[in-house]
Parts: sequence; C-alpha cells; structure tokens
Amino acid sequence: MAPIAPRNGILNIIPYKAGDAKIEGFDRVIKLASNESPLGPSPAAVDAAKLAADSGLQLYPDPSCGALRAAIGEVHGLDPERIICSSGSEELLHLLAKGYATDGDEVIFCQYGFIAYPITIHAVGATPIMVPEDNYTANVDAILAAQTDRTKIVNLANPNNPTGTYLAENEVRRLRDGLRDDILLVLDAAYAEYVDCGDYDAGFKLVDNGLENTIVTRTFSKIYGLAGARVGWAYGPVSVLDILNRIRGTFNVTAMSQAAATAAVRDQDHVAKAKAHNLTWVPKISKALEEMGMKVTPSHGNFILAHFAGGPAQASAADSFLRSKGIILRPVGNYDLAGALRITIGTAEENEALLTEMAAFFA
Ligand SMILES: *Cc1c(COP(=O)(O)O)cnc(C)c1O
Repeated sequence: MAPIAPRNGILNIIPYKAGDAKIEGFDRVIKLASNESPLGPSPAAVDAAKLAADSGLQLYPDPSCGALRAAIGEVHGLDPERIICSSGSEELLHLLAKGYATDGDEVIFCQYGFIAYPITIHAVGATPIMVPEDNYTANVDAILAAQTDRTKIVNLANPNNPTGTYLAENEVRRLRDGLRDDILLVLDAAYAEYVDCGDYDAGFKLVDNGLENTIVTRTFSKIYGLAGARVGWAYGPVSVLDILNRIRGTFNVTAMSQAAATAAVRDQDHVAKAKAHNLTWVPKISKALEEMGMKVTPSHGNFILAHFAGGPAQASAADSFLRSKGIILRPVGNYDLAGALRITIGTAEENEALLTEMAAFFA
C-alpha cells in the first residue's frame, strides 16, 4: 500500500537540523553552534522554574500566560493585551503562516533569511518566494519588487541569523510603507537585545501604525539564556493575536517556562551583563579572525558569520579540525553558505580556545 499522502507542501520541507551538541569521544565539548547564551539564564529564572515544578505539576498552566504578559508589558512599556506568548518564537512563525497563508499564496523571505521561514511556508502549502540580498543584508527594494497579488506575508529577521546583519528603522519603515496594506509584515527580532546601534528599532512603533498589518516576534532563547524552556512572544495588533489564539495549543507554554520567563524578564541586569559580554567579544573575535585572513560579516547578533578564503573545502576542513579539538561550530551549507561557518559567542574561555584552535588550523 502507498503511504498516506500528507497535505500539499509538506514533502517540500527540508527538515531543520539542529546544531550538534556532542562529539564522539569527548565528555565535554565547546558548543558554539546554536546561538545559546554563554552566561546561561538569570538565577532568578532557574529558581522560579524549580518553584513552579514543586508547586503543582498536576495543574494545567495559565493558558493566557497572564503574569508573563504583564511582566513583559511592564518591562517594555507595552499593552499586555497586544502580547501573545508561545512555545519558542518558532511556534509563532508557524502560527502566522497557518493563520494567514494557504495553497496558492506567496510568502516572501530573504536569500540568507532564517531557515525556519521556508519550513513554515511549505507546511501550509504556500509558495516560498526567496528574494536576493545585497552584501548579506536584506534588500528592501528587492522585497518590494517581489510582492504580487498573491503575497500574504513578508518574513524579515532583524537582525538576521545566520548573517548578523540588520536593517535600520528607516529602512524597515520604507519596507512597510512600500508593501500593500493587506500584506502581513513579520519582524522577527530574536536578537534585538544585542543590537547597539542608534538607528535600530525592533518594530513596536510600526505595530502601532493602526493598519493592523505588522507583528514583532521576540524570544527568551537567546539573550535570556532560556532556549531549553521554549518561550517566545510577540507584540501585535489584537486582530492578529485573535487569529493566533484561535489556532495555538491552549496550554502552549508550560508552567515552569512561564515562571522562568516571568522572572527572567524582570532581571534586566542579567540581560545587560549578557549584552556587555557580547559587545566585548563580537569585535574581538571578528578582528582576530580577520587577522587570520577570514572575511567576517559585521554582526549585530550573538554570533559571527566567518567566510573562508579557501571556500567550502577550507570551511569544511576547519570544521573537522575544530571538532577534533572538541569545538562545534555551525556549518551553513544549508543556506548556500558552504564557504562560511557561523560561530556563536561563548564564554571568555571558550572564545579563547576557539581562537587558539582556529590559529592552529591556519598554521
Ligand atoms: C533563534 C531564532 C529564533 C528563536 O527561536 P525560538 O523558537 O524562540 O527558540 C527565531 N528567529 C531567529 C532568526 C532565530 O535565530
């Protein structure tokens, strides 16, 4: 018997491959492959998760994430009614595609845009439209030129993973202004907290434009160091959140995760520490790699895209060499960037070890 046919589009998905966490023969590895925080979570978040685990796991969690939304609203100065929480922000990307796109619709994303986008688009049978970039940076004119009568959503990671590049506030505004009003602009700001540029804005102001066509997604997985807890959130128009609330899992964020994230967002000192650590190391590692002859794409995230002069063969050889030393970086051939590796900023010791071994590779 033939296997039961899945819905349209699903077999077009190239399954997401997470960064490796283990190397055979090593008890401990240095994992710089998944943009996880080298500082880990706020101790207050860990305590809150433990307390939640101790106080009634037989009970369903708050389906509305009320305390967490209130805490996020307070810290960011946002109306909790316009906030939705999720099991990681990736869930929101899927819900947005499911809520707004279907067979025959088009969803736009950028050439080196986050690889989750084509997955969410194929999953609903819609057509992914990949738009060329300029110097590893989203190109507003190219996105605008790609819109058609069938365009439903534009996905923009700002800053983007794996490139680390960003669009300034005025460019994002130009993008919104140039898109038809009935196209949903999804601003994925997973790395917003790391950005240290005066001309950057995550997009909350655009959500408030009154047209109900822009949403900003955020995550606790990166600077908050809570990737294992799986918590994301979005700030968007009530009309869009209503669609997402209809189709999400009722209890999509666990009690422990809600507690952890609520404590984490209230500990902005910890966030500031993580940001300062990152701002110290991104330029340090970038400069050191450039002195070894690499090209580094200027990064505004907690990672660096490093290009090898020797192309894919050299990138792959470096990856193997570093693995033989217990260091795992992220190959990005799935982004058509086989000549580069993505390097997450680690602890000071991990970063020093990376630079030592990379120098050994080139020697
Ligand atoms: C890591 C990342 C996310 C966040 O994923 P979570 O599901 O929240 O862990 C979203 N977008 C981009 C671009 C990312 O790199």
